[in-house]
Amino acid sequence: MRRNEKVYKRRRIAVACVAAVVVLAAAVGLTLLLHPSPHFTFDGEKAAAGTITVSSADISGELGRVKAYDWLGKERPVQCPEIGFAGPGEYPLTLTAEDGLGKQAQFTLTVVWEAAPEAPTEPEEEPETPSGGEGSSSSSQGGQSSGGNTGEVVYSGGIVEPASITPEVISNPSAITAIVNKYHALPEGYTPSDLVAITTNCGKNLQLRKEAAESWEQMMEAAKADGITLKAVSAYRTKDYQNGLFTRYTSQYGKEYTAQYSAYPRRSEHELGLALDISNTAGIPDNFETTAEGKWLMKNAHNYGFILRYPEDKVKITQYGYEPWHYRYLGKDLAETLYKSGQTYEEYLGVK
Ligand SMILES: [Zn+2]
Repeated sequence: MRRNEKVYKRRRIAVACVAAVVVLAAAVGLTLLLHPSPHFTFDGEKAAAGTITVSSADISGELGRVKAYDWLGKERPVQCPEIGFAGPGEYPLTLTAEDGLGKQAQFTLTVVWEAAPEAPTEPEEEPETPSGGEGSSSSSQGGQSSGGNTGEVVYSGGIVEPASITPEVISNPSAITAIVNKYHALPEGYTPSDLVAITTNCGKNLQLRKEAAESWEQMMEAAKADGITLKAVSAYRTKDYQNGLFTRYTSQYGKEYTAQYSAYPRRSEHELGLALDISNTAGIPDNFETTAEGKWLMKNAHNYGFILRYPEDKVKITQYGYEPWHYRYLGKDLAETLYKSGQTYEEYLGVK
């Protein structure tokens, strides 16, 4: 009798255990099956569709307005299809996001490309040749150079207002190693002669100079082999486009912010056709360096001739805020040298 009772008890425990496992498995299965799909936000508001208006095919900054989150509130990459912009017009775009369990959601975006407004031209008082003055005087923030030779306007943090700088016009714009920064400008009228289309993984027809483009394709393939999808979100820009971008940034975010994150026309590496903004999503996330893609680039980009151009601890030297997405092609040897030395290109060349 006692033995039978024991057996009976054991059986009951076993049945209860099996039942618990079945219930648990069913709960997990149902959760996996029924959990909410990712959701999108547009300009920070929950939305399923949106419209953006742009003045060129470079929609990188604008796509950052669309973000996706999974059911647990974690941000997910926004996937965008490859589309070709043929010119001003309306382009419907379906963006996709997928959560870690493979559940997808879609966002409908209409890109309205308007004919570009008349772009403002360079300030006329800019001399052809540099005056050579070492005018590194400073004034407090918000000041405005009233033209002429009043010296540089320096914002807090040591960032100089580009309009207050008279840059040196470089003589070797077609060299792969040409330096372009706040103090070194491209000559008027220079356009790279060997621009080619690149694979973007993100919906836009972008171009780089041939050598940089080939290296980008190799780097992208190598990343893919490591399970990393790199997206090119901005590459070559014309002077007019850069001008429009700088003007829009200035009116939207003010001069001080613009001086940190946007280049004055003719002083953008993007106009060289050798700079690339890389992301893991349709726009550029603020925390790109913490993503698998950002980390992969920091570790490997120099092997393909690209360097992180505006590091976090070199802001005063590069004169730009930290941009973990902006990579400059300099060729493998030079990129490796800079990577190993930890120097910026300015430090390496010994120039401002
Ligand atoms: Zn950039």
